[in-house]
Amino acid sequence: MMKEQIQELSQKIFKDVVANRRHLHANPELSFHEVATSAYVASKLDELNIPYVRMADNGIVGLLKGNKPSDQVVALRADMDALPITEANDVPYKSQNTGVMHACGHDVHTSSLLGTATILTSLKDQFGGTVKLIFQPAEEKLPGGANLMIQEGVLENPKPQAVLGQHVMPLIDAGKVGFRAGKYMASTDEIYVTVKGKGGHGAQPQQNIDPVIITAHILTALQQVVSRFADPKSPSVLSFGKVIANGATNIIPNEVYLEGTFRTMDEKWRSEAHIRMKKMAEGIAESMGGSCEFNIMRGYPFLINEEKLTASVRGYAEDYLGKENVLDLDIWMAAEDFAYYSQVADACFYRLGTRNESRGITSAVHTPTFDVEESALTVSTGLMAYMALKQLGN
Ligand SMILES: [Zn+2]
Ligand SMILES: [Zn+2]
Repeated sequence: MMKEQIQELSQKIFKDVVANRRHLHANPELSFHEVATSAYVASKLDELNIPYVRMADNGIVGLLKGNKPSDQVVALRADMDALPITEANDVPYKSQNTGVMHACGHDVHTSSLLGTATILTSLKDQFGGTVKLIFQPAEEKLPGGANLMIQEGVLENPKPQAVLGQHVMPLIDAGKVGFRAGKYMASTDEIYVTVKGKGGHGAQPQQNIDPVIITAHILTALQQVVSRFADPKSPSVLSFGKVIANGATNIIPNEVYLEGTFRTMDEKWRSEAHIRMKKMAEGIAESMGGSCEFNIMRGYPFLINEEKLTASVRGYAEDYLGKENVLDLDIWMAAEDFAYYSQVADACFYRLGTRNESRGITSAVHTPTFDVEESALTVSTGLMAYMALKQLGN
């Protein structure tokens, strides 16, 4: 009964959800600058008579209570920020903010959560429990909006028993969703290294300390942290995408600058790896007569989908969409700040299919041609409403 009602409501509000998505898409704002987006969300919550508080500057937390008695609480999270990318799509809702684009689908997440809130508001008399609506800023930039909101108490008063979040996935067809129980996404740390030597004429290596050859040793040796020290059962990735030795054919530079990323799925190993990498790099540089400044900027933790919760909500999704429309996801070594919720609460982060090959909607997130098949916006609103109510015991 409730399922059919939600499905009907998701069709009924579809046009409005698309309009909200297009408004947000045309007016994207960068991480920590979601001022107009936040005001837009607040105005929509006002229309729905949903009380809310502000958190982490542009964050908004709404509380939607069912009229039946229940002390259960579930939190639903949407992120609101866009990326520094110039949109290449020629669409009526193209970004009006040059150089900024909703290329990660956060416009979809935000408009969908507003849609879910609209559905749940219509059903208020029929359910018990509290739905916490988390509109979060700054997913794309460290230290991450999730981190700040948790510090400001988003998971307290009332404390949710479960936190659910969805993210667009252009690899999955619109109409389908994907789940993975357990470890799903990686922690991510940024590495900045300066290898110092003593530059000079390329013809006189005996009078110089060559930071280029030191760097070559460091880069090769550091891969052994991954291949020899990491537990093979737990994935680790170390990649250096920036190596600058600004000498010439006959000039040995004074220093070499490197940037890289380290990703894994185990917090204890993550900290141990940091120490090993630093020690190894500094030791090699020193043994070759140079020195090395090895800095790691800690990023998001790894994301874990709590097993029991994920099994439950996956079941609700099969019930709502049909078994054939619910897929299993592989682990993904990208990072996501929803991971912070998953580290301190029972959480599940699932994927919303937004692909439509026949319309050419296949571009990856974080690219200038990213777009979504908007029919997915019936799934994104209704499914989340259904899962929330089921999880609350309705
Ligand atoms: Zn992103
Ligand atoms: Zn994203």
